[in-house]
Amino acid sequence: AIELQDVHLSLGRAAARVHILKGVSLSLPSGEATGLVGPSGSGKSTLLMTMAGLERPDSGIVKVAGQDLGSLNEDGLALFRGKRIGIVFQSFHLVPTMTARENVALPLELAGANDAFARAEAELRNVGLGDRMDHYPAQLSGGEQQRVAIARAVAPDPAILVADEPTGNLDENTGRSIVDLIFALRRERGATLVLVTHDLSLAALCDRTIRLRAGRIEADADLAVA
Ligand code: ATP
Ligand code: MG
Repeated sequence: AIELQDVHLSLGRAAARVHILKGVSLSLPSGEATGLVGPSGSGKSTLLMTMAGLERPDSGIVKVAGQDLGSLNEDGLALFRGKRIGIVFQSFHLVPTMTARENVALPLELAGANDAFARAEAELRNVGLGDRMDHYPAQLSGGEQQRVAIARAVAPDPAILVADEPTGNLDENTGRSIVDLIFALRRERGATLVLVTHDLSLAALCDRTIRLRAGRIEADADLAVA
């Protein structure tokens, strides 16, 4: 589950400081899939990074799987992220100097697993990349890189999985297969999913949709009636 209470967040320094999230409260039950939509610049990515503990709010409370992220120091937060939060980006964000296997093993090693490589291999087979273990990101297609990124995100069995326009850099068919994979893994592992997308047909696959406008929740409902 993910819970936010009156979260405010600003980014940038001094005169360039911008108030981005202006009092966001929400409660996403465990296992539910939420589509996060809204105009460009409305704060979707910022909200997702706040849920994932990559941005700390100026004020308000962020709770993930019952843990108040604000009560953790930087090391504690990094450890919690590695074990409980899976993140997928539009531009994949794989480590270019590591093979697919090493990329997926990385969070498992950081979490102290002693079978990180074997588990990484199982995750890669699970996303259909059993024959690409030793490939570097530059040797993989965009869709394959995103599969590696998804395998890496779900490998530690996170409580929540957040994805920021995961199909934004992919063609329609590849994007569709990536979305199918994300939903299949989310069902399999029971993770709470938050999916940022500009594509309303993808948002419609979610249990609910939250629409953001200028840093505030404008609508929290089924798109069909919004
Ligand atoms: P898009 O659909 O284009 O990805 P978004 O809804 O994800 O947009 P955000 O990336 O969250 O929007 O950005 C929200 C606002 O915050 C924008 O106006 C952006 O310019 C501003 N912003 C983002 N990062 C920073 C930063 N580091 N410093 C200052 N302003 C920032
Ligand atoms: Mg964004």
